[in-house]
Formats: sequence, structure tokens, C-alpha cells
Amino acid sequence: MRVAEQPSLKPFNTFGVEAGAGLMLTLESDEDLLSLPPFNPDRDLVLGGGSNILFASDVPGTVIHNRIRGKEVVKSGNVHAWIETGAGENWHEVVQWTLEQGLSGLENLSLIPGLAGAAPIQNIGAYGVELSSVLETVTAWDLSEHRWTVFSHEQCRLAYRDSIFKSGAPGRYLISSIRLRLNKRFAPHLDYAGLREELSKAGVSQPTPSQVSDAVIRLRQRKLPDPSVCGNAGSFFKNPALPRDQALALSEQFPEIPAWPQTDGTTKFSAAWMIEHRGLKGQRIGGAAVSDRHALVIINTGCATGRDILQLANSIQSTIQDTFGVRLEPEPRIVDFPA
Ligand SMILES: Cc1cc2nc3c(=O)[nH]c(=O)nc-3n(C[C@H](O)[C@H](O)[C@H](O)COP(=O)(O)OP(=O)(O)OC[C@H]3O[C@@H](n4cnc5c(N)ncnc54)[C@H](O)[C@@H]3O)c2cc1C
Repeated sequence: MRVAEQPSLKPFNTFGVEAGAGLMLTLESDEDLLSLPPFNPDRDLVLGGGSNILFASDVPGTVIHNRIRGKEVVKSGNVHAWIETGAGENWHEVVQWTLEQGLSGLENLSLIPGLAGAAPIQNIGAYGVELSSVLETVTAWDLSEHRWTVFSHEQCRLAYRDSIFKSGAPGRYLISSIRLRLNKRFAPHLDYAGLREELSKAGVSQPTPSQVSDAVIRLRQRKLPDPSVCGNAGSFFKNPALPRDQALALSEQFPEIPAWPQTDGTTKFSAAWMIEHRGLKGQRIGGAAVSDRHALVIINTGCATGRDILQLANSIQSTIQDTFGVRLEPEPRIVDFPA
């Protein structure tokens, strides 16, 4: 385990905002977990790649940075193969490695920043696929009971940008590895906006998993600001899912708003459309701005503090609430410990 006293967290978050911490412990093996000091969620924090986190304050206690590595195919059948990956592996590298092994299932999730251990936290999703379609088990260290727990797929309670780890028992479990069930026979998911067009532009009608991955990478590079050039955490708000009556009223008032009926009877609405419709693209507070390229993305124009970003997010929430009667929920974890 590596130990750093009073580290700057600026290199450890893709918003690129300055924040401090009392201590940073970098885990490199499961054994390191056994010697962790007591964890207090009111002062301490588990950190992966920092691509879904906003530091609006310092972390007064300890940051546990998870770099437990290793990935392998653990079981193989005729139709499926099972892989296990350490939480500290880079997610996109895991995706590329599975493609090299001839396994499919993760290609639509290419180029999502961050580490594998955070993938179940918000059930990462992109281009019509969510982690829930392949996640079999999660092995986690229970930070309050000091013991290992293995979560089945059902126990993870995966939902749209949510899981037991995010909203059920936030901060209680440190994920150390995940097991995924992947496919040996490829069945592409091409229904999501633009993906089929991107492939046909490249002259591909029956794509391989790698060709789908390449198309997703090209689309993402065109649409989303690169955090290494311009700090951001991807989409800042979830698309709100509204119950039937509220959904009907909203669609009647704003017939052009993109809406997707869900199997549970709710309807999901485009948060990006609402933000763009209210003319908030480009709006700034301090060094924070709503991206010109994508209305759901808040960027650090170079000198933003975490509080600038939080203030801008709060002001977007109020405007959307006043206009549409809808409360937008942030996607990233907002770290705001009392001083
Ligand atoms: C440009 C860009 C594009 C993005 N696109 C997408 C997208 O298409 N789809 C999508 O779903 N997300 C997307 N994201 C968000 C982000 O990449 C994912 O949510 C990713 O899984 C976060 O991983 P991370 O390791 O960076 O997590 P972090 O930001 O480090 O942590 C996020 C949360 O998970 C917790 N956590 C992290 N690791 C562990 C662990 N091992 N055990 C327990 N808790 C842990 C943290 O405490 C925190 O609450 C995007 C982000 C960016 C910057």
C-alpha cells in the first residue's frame, strides 16, 4: 500500500479542480484491505479514476485510491466466457482486452473513462447497453463490518445510473473485483442513435465487435469534450423518469421534447433538450460553463473551482425546475464535506 500525506486531488479528478485530502492510501492488492484504518464515510472517500466525482470541498480524512489490478478469463463454455477483473484496471483497457480474447458484450461501452471497480456503482451505460447486461457478481470489502461480501447480480440492484452501492448503502462497500459474463457468439446492439449510421458511413453492414467498438469510439470523440483537454465528468444530469400523469402533462405542454417510455410505466425525458431549450448552453459561473458541444456536460474552462461547478449545476436545476417542474438529479458523486 502506498501512502501520501496531504496530497492534491487535482490529478485524480477529470474536472481537474483543486482539492486536498488528509491522507491518500493507494491499494495495490486485496491484502492491503486488511490493514486499512477504520473508515468513516463522514470524512473518508473511496476513489477510482475520478471521472464521476465533483470535489466541491476537500476530503478531511483519507482517500482510498483503488488500484487493485489483474484480469483473467476464469471460466469458458460453448456460448459464454466469464472474466474477472480487479477494480483498479482501466475500464476501456478491459473492454479492448475482452475484444482481443474474441469475447463480445462490452463493445458499446468502449471509451467510458474510469476504473472497472466503479462500473457497477452507477451501472455504466452507453449506446443502448448497460453493465447490467453482463455483470454477474461483485466482490467487495465491507468497510463497516470488515469482511468480504460477494454480491449476486440481483443483490447489486442495478438500475438506470444506479445500484445498491450508489443509493442503497453509499460508501459502505469497497469493490475489489467484478465478474462479467461475455459472449462467444456476437449479437450486435445497434439500435442507439447514430451507431448504425456511423457503421454504414464506414461501409460496414455486418460489423464485428471491434468495428462496433471503433464506431463508438469515433462517435464519443466527436460528441464529448476530452477531459485531458477540458475538464468534465461526462453527463452531469440523469434523464428524469416521470410517472404517467406528470409525463403526460409535460408532453402536452412541450410536444417536441424527446421522450422514451419505460417498461415500469414511467417515461424518461431528455435532460439535454430541457437545458438547451432554456438557452443554458454556454452559460457560465466563474470558470465553469455548460459545454457548447453537449448541453448535459459541465466543463472546467481552465480556472474553475469545484464550487463554481456546483453553483452552476444548482442554477441549472432551479431553472429546469421552474420551467418544466422537473428536478434534475446529478450523475456524479458530489463531495461536499463540512469544513
Ligand atoms: C468524458 C466522460 C464521458 C463519460 N461517459 C459515460 C457514459 O457514457 N456512461 C456512463 O455511465 N458514465 C460515463 N461517464 C462517467 C464515468 O466515467 C463513469 O461513471 C465511471 O464508471 C466512473 O469511474 P471512476 O473510476 O472514474 O469512478 P470515480 O469517479 O473515482 O468514483 C465514482 C463513484 O464511485 C465510487 N467508487 C469508485 N471506485 C470504487 C470502488 N472500487 N469501490 C467502491 N466505490 C467506488 C466513488 O466513491 C464515487 O462515489 C463519463 C465520464 C467522462 C469524464
